Amino acid sequence: MTEKKTRKFKTEVQQLLRLIINSLYSNKEIFVRELISNASDAIDKARFKEHTEPELFNADSDYKIRLAVDPEKRTFTVTDNGIGMTFDEVNDNIGTIAKSGTAAFMEALEKSKNETSLTPELIGQFGVGFYSAFIVADKICLETRAAGAEQGVRWESDGQGTYTVQEIEKKDRGTTITLFLKEGEEGDQDFTDEHTIQQIVKKHSDFVTYPVVMNMEKTEPIPENEIIKDKDGKPIGDTFRKVRKDVTLNSMKAIWAKPREEVTQEEHEEFYKHISHNWDKPLEIIHKKFEGVTEYDVLMYIPSKAPFDLFRPERKHGMQLYCKRVFIMDDCKELLPDYLGFVQGVVDAPDLNLNVSREILQEDRLVRNIKKNLVKKIFSTLEEMDKEKYEEFYNEFGQALKAGIPTDFTNKERIAALLRYKTTKSGDKYVTLDEYIENMKEDQKEIFYLTGENLTSLMNSPLLESLKARDYEVLLMVDPIDEWVTQSLTEYKEKTLKSAEKGDLDVEKVDDEKKNQYSALLSFLKGKLDDRVKDVVVSNRLKDSISCLAGDDWGMSAYMEKILKASGQKTPEQKRVMEVNVNHPVMEKIKEIFETDTTNPVLTDYSDLLFDIAVISEGGKLDNPSRFSKLMGDLMAKAI
Ligand code: ADP
Repeated sequence: MTEKKTRKFKTEVQQLLRLIINSLYSNKEIFVRELISNASDAIDKARFKEHTEPELFNADSDYKIRLAVDPEKRTFTVTDNGIGMTFDEVNDNIGTIAKSGTAAFMEALEKSKNETSLTPELIGQFGVGFYSAFIVADKICLETRAAGAEQGVRWESDGQGTYTVQEIEKKDRGTTITLFLKEGEEGDQDFTDEHTIQQIVKKHSDFVTYPVVMNMEKTEPIPENEIIKDKDGKPIGDTFRKVRKDVTLNSMKAIWAKPREEVTQEEHEEFYKHISHNWDKPLEIIHKKFEGVTEYDVLMYIPSKAPFDLFRPERKHGMQLYCKRVFIMDDCKELLPDYLGFVQGVVDAPDLNLNVSREILQEDRLVRNIKKNLVKKIFSTLEEMDKEKYEEFYNEFGQALKAGIPTDFTNKERIAALLRYKTTKSGDKYVTLDEYIENMKEDQKEIFYLTGENLTSLMNSPLLESLKARDYEVLLMVDPIDEWVTQSLTEYKEKTLKSAEKGDLDVEKVDDEKKNQYSALLSFLKGKLDDRVKDVVVSNRLKDSISCLAGDDWGMSAYMEKILKASGQKTPEQKRVMEVNVNHPVMEKIKEIFETDTTNPVLTDYSDLLFDIAVISEGGKLDNPSRFSKLMGDLMAKAI
């Protein structure tokens, strides 16, 4: 045994605890679920380890989670015979926040600027799990012994900045957590009341795979032969009595293994909450027994809301792997590609080896086969959704789906068919690529698109003027990820995707004679703007505006450049081509001045203005805004 040591919580834990303790948190009962779910995770780990190292477990594999309350001492206790923790693990897992999720949690709270808005969604998603107990407790004592360890550990804290740890004797493997409950406030639930706890477990933890047991008072009928009766055989005393006995509070139903039609909507909703820690309802349920060479049960849910951290690389996948109802692992990235990682669910494959490791899983033929089938099933489900429901899905997870285009070569076409865009003609309605193709003008060969920050600026972009004049439809792409989509989806159903800001548009031809008339002025302008543009050319894109910037076919789009810059990446200095509208009266005037006197200083001003106007019209930032406003001021003064 070592002596008791007092340690300080890391700063972020202190912050977190302060938040938890001070928040006007309305859903206090959630700590029960969090502690039970930790216990269940610990048993999962024990069960898994038992397959490889049975000697650590001394045949104690009657796994259960035990709850107890003591109204006098005002305590609530959770005990499990799971994997337990070593001294170091207690310090790593409980004393600090090792989790990346918690940093994200603090960030999200900061953003909401409202420390009282600690919602169950937040707690669930970020797994501040254990700490949630401080919502109801003013002191917590955790005692634990790891499988195979000789000594146990006691951890205690009042949540006020420090905790103590010491080694102790502990008879049984596993963990016991005792909460010393705060005095409840008016209207609070009584967490020392057995029936209250029973209801909470039923509500939040019914699907936990292990029995959650509590020794509690039950009313039961007195056996016939023990009832005291009068001479006519009528009972004179009680026919019911109160006894204390172990009661299993949860049903532990593995609903994925039940026939589809036997599972109710309510059961699905509860189970979905249980595995996803989400509080919404699933948008779609996929429940299927795959039969063939091998059989396996699949239950998948498409959530109705995207999580805030959908694109964080450290985000866990939603699929869990079971073998004959024994949990093997969660966050099972081998079952679905990353871009479908938001799907929540369970695969139960009886033919899997229980001792599989993640590394082996990747190579496993059965698992690869399952993955292929799951992906197919998800696609057919999305394809069969009615329009309204699909768009609901797309608004939440469209970006995730798009990430499949550059990463999932086999399913690229299929994903492309699921894309939806607003267009120059669709108003606020979505258009599919197939619909786009159907509506193409007779002389139109390509699928036109333009990427950028928002619909309004795209809609009004000068780059689209001649396309619009020709009545060609243009897809308006406003997700940053669309840049990657268009890089890898260069063709759909034999039609090339063509950016409206790149290369030759091949729509509006300016006649050669006119081009020749302007060639001297254009090379003069190029000389003036040499540090900013690659070339100055006659535009076939513009109809009403004077100038714009375009790229060549393989160049980076303006929006892509902006995205990369915003994310702090170094981008090679990209010069683009300035296009001028030679049918614009202003250009004619400039040409006149140029032809009269090439040294006229206003020509420098005008070339600067032509460039600045091109930048502004695509929503870009001027490198010298004050020069622009001065030139504009001068011009206005002259005009007025
Ligand atoms: P989460 O459960 O989301 O990881 P918690 O803060 O609730 O976050 O728990 C932190 C860590 O402490 C867990 O990941 C686990 O390693 C450990 N832990 C918590 N409760 C137990 C328990 N009953 N048995 C063993 N380890 C536990």
